[in-house]
Amino acid sequence: MKQAVVLDKAEIVKRYKPIDPQTHKGMQGHALIIAGSYGKMGAAVLASKSCLKTGCGLVTALVPKCGYEILQIANPEVMTLTDKKEQYLSDIKMAIKPQAIAIGPGLGQHIVTQKAVLDFLKTNRIPLVLDADALNILACNKAWFSVLLPKTILTPHPKELERLLGEWHTEEEKFQKTRAFVCQYDLIVVMKGAPTYIFTPDAVYVNTTGNAALATAGSGDVLTGMLTSLLAQGYSATDAALLGVYLHGLTATIALPKTGYQSFTATTILKNIGKAFLSLE
Ligand code: AMP
Ligand code: MG
Repeated sequence: MKQAVVLDKAEIVKRYKPIDPQTHKGMQGHALIIAGSYGKMGAAVLASKSCLKTGCGLVTALVPKCGYEILQIANPEVMTLTDKKEQYLSDIKMAIKPQAIAIGPGLGQHIVTQKAVLDFLKTNRIPLVLDADALNILACNKAWFSVLLPKTILTPHPKELERLLGEWHTEEEKFQKTRAFVCQYDLIVVMKGAPTYIFTPDAVYVNTTGNAALATAGSGDVLTGMLTSLLAQGYSATDAALLGVYLHGLTATIALPKTGYQSFTATTILKNIGKAFLSLE
């Protein structure tokens, strides 16, 4: 494999676009977060909150009915749409026109949800981040890889990646399989781990921020919201993936001396997104 590009501050500031003083929320993008099922609504809360805190002008969450009050109370700034089903999503209708969509955190894999996700992927033409159960559903339906919109961002952790690509025996084989996958389907894969690698059809990047404090429940859900936010604000899929992964890691670099590993949670990531952005100014 070609050498990975080191994703350091110099690489990031080239891509970062400071906020225009004349902006208004309508210019900052509208993102849709499709997430949550009974008992996993926190994933929808975290992803939509992180989407807002990464600068998106408007965020809508689409959740099962049981998530309505949870979302509205936890995230007063987020608009909430509900499915007709109480506990899981059954139908993904586009009553709004977002600039970017995330699908997957806490979604579960009910058979009805699986069909709704696949039907959605078939027709979707809006920049997309696929995470968690959306990846697991896709992994069970590999013939559907080819329906994904080019430059869709996939954010698998190691188990999710293995479900998508099959087993590997060496790191080299894992990298080769991932590279072949992104080139064949024109996708972006955020290979989460320590460190995280970002695979695009043109290059592979290795992130330099973050630490083991990020190994905590909901960490990936926050990352998904951040990437979707940047996509909605007009960053290319590659730049959204690079900037989002770098800033997500930077929250842990910044906060670890104050929290220690043990008390760092996904909420700590949310609280430090602002400081991570400020360090780029
Ligand atoms: P998830 O497993 O979906 O919650 O995602 C976990 C997030 O935390 C990903 O962004 C990982 O890259 C990051 N992460 C997990 N463990 C570590 C670690 N030991 N060092 C750095 N980042 C980590
Ligand atoms: Mg995850």
